Amino acid sequence: MRKTALSLGLFAAFLANAQSIKTTIDLVNVKDDKVAVTMEFPKMKSGDVKFHFPKTVPGTYSEDDYGRFIEGIKFYDNKGSELKYTKVNDNTYALKNAQNLSKISYLVNDSFDEETDTSKHKAVFSPSGTDIEQGKVYMINTHGFIGYIDNMQDVPYQLVVQKPTDFYGTTALVDQDKSESTDTFTLANYAKVTDSPLMYTKPDYITFNAGGMELVLGVYSPTGKYKAADFKENLEKMVIAQKKFLGDMNTNKKYAIMLYLSGGDGPKIKGFGALEHHESTSVVLPEMMPKDAIDKTITDVVSHEFFHTVNPLKTHSEEIHYFDYADPKMSQHLWMYEGGTEYFANLFQIQEGLINKDEFLQRIGEKIANSKNYDDTMPFTVMSKNVLKAPYKDQYRNVYEKGTLLAMCLDIELRKLSNGEMGYRDMIRKLSQRFGENKPFKDDKLIDELVTVTGYPQVKDFYTKYIAGNQPTPYADYLNMVGVEIQKQDSRPIFWFIKNPNQTGFDDKNNAFAFDESSALSPFAKSIGFKITDQVLALDGKTVDIKNVQDFISYTQTIKDGQNVTVTILRDNAGKKDKMTLTGKAILDKMTTETLKFKANPSPAELKLQSQWLTGKK
Ligand SMILES: [Zn+2]
Repeated sequence: MRKTALSLGLFAAFLANAQSIKTTIDLVNVKDDKVAVTMEFPKMKSGDVKFHFPKTVPGTYSEDDYGRFIEGIKFYDNKGSELKYTKVNDNTYALKNAQNLSKISYLVNDSFDEETDTSKHKAVFSPSGTDIEQGKVYMINTHGFIGYIDNMQDVPYQLVVQKPTDFYGTTALVDQDKSESTDTFTLANYAKVTDSPLMYTKPDYITFNAGGMELVLGVYSPTGKYKAADFKENLEKMVIAQKKFLGDMNTNKKYAIMLYLSGGDGPKIKGFGALEHHESTSVVLPEMMPKDAIDKTITDVVSHEFFHTVNPLKTHSEEIHYFDYADPKMSQHLWMYEGGTEYFANLFQIQEGLINKDEFLQRIGEKIANSKNYDDTMPFTVMSKNVLKAPYKDQYRNVYEKGTLLAMCLDIELRKLSNGEMGYRDMIRKLSQRFGENKPFKDDKLIDELVTVTGYPQVKDFYTKYIAGNQPTPYADYLNMVGVEIQKQDSRPIFWFIKNPNQTGFDDKNNAFAFDESSALSPFAKSIGFKITDQVLALDGKTVDIKNVQDFISYTQTIKDGQNVTVTILRDNAGKKDKMTLTGKAILDKMTTETLKFKANPSPAELKLQSQWLTGKK
């Protein structure tokens, strides 16, 4: 393994001798949590120069405008004189007659510090954001630090990170110099730059081999609560299971995991989750989580990111292959890129024995319940294609709910059609053999390709009705085929702020109930003008206390239909929170819960299909 890495490093060093863009990130002389970056260019291809930071990066499906975090930008010619420029928008600078442009310098602010103030711009999802905390941690999502010039995206970058000698950078990249004070990397093009995050901290990392792959896990735990070694056992088990599930669909020889735990006196961020890259993933979770919960989240989330190596990282449409950072075009197929990936992240756990049958079914049941917060008649392909815009962007998170269920139903459909011989994984495997890293498919031809690789025209019927069409997918019918029934139960009428009380969260800074923005408001909340982003401080003067939640719930159970109620809330007002009261008459609402159960007496055909579904065996 070491040998492979060394030879790769050498090859990259040869590339560096060709014309490259030398980019230096200075983590030594950091002032006011701003990092200086300089970029030195080979000869310009034209005098009309456009320099950009990305508006969007692959995998985030949102417009984040990374140029917002740049200040003090200067453009120099080869004699060291400053050149005039025009700032076109947050992300783009234009220069005329700049054929002698040779250097750009600027300062980078981080996005983590801005997350809590969303008055001017929606927050960047933390795992694709940047954090600069002098002496503690530098989360370098490269797209937030490094820009590109139009028509020069294919020029190699030589990245030099000047670092404190006692800092270590977790990354999948191979350092080509021996110095303790610099790390040098060569990247083939700008896409490779944005595919390669780095996290610099005081060293806390482990490396190990699992499933035939070299892994590095670097951890930043601000209070020192956790060490990287704490997570090794679980991670190792997960990776072995995952590599076995994927077989020849994944060829990774190495993978880097950057785990940033948020807590202590660090920035108050809330975008927990992870972002995928070919050879790494950046993960952000709260440090307050217990170890078991972090282990479970690593199994769910890191596996999800690793499954992305199948698609969209390897197998994808032209929109992703020729990604336009300045004016991104979206694909129609988030049902496969995100939904199929999330399905894999659950299916491998049951097939490889990390969870049991009932736990798997419970997860599917939760996805059905969560999917009800979204518009079930909005065609998934239309939502996907337009996901950067309203009203589609608010439906994005349904990719993890309905998207998963679409992949599951297609899996069952295929198994039924093929007498258990073929499932969703087999279809994706065949698709990845037909296309791949350097051969994108045409976005609107995907369904025909899927018919070709499976040999089943019925796949197109499924697609036309439930993925590209507006028909809700009949989950009960598909689950019935694998011997699963849905049991419905009505609760007695309850008083609450959202339809499904299970989706209530808690903000420990404000001591208030907070709700997921995708949750549906209860009829009462709607009637008093409550907004889903409001937080609940008190009800009829009874304050929310996380240690005595049961007392609060008991009080709500005494409330009768039509009774006058006063709710004290915090409402977001241009970044600050206003305390307000809302009053109205209580409306009690029934909640219908659906529980998925394996049938007590499934038919032999159902049982056979169920076994093929849950084991992946033919
Ligand atoms: Zn994903």
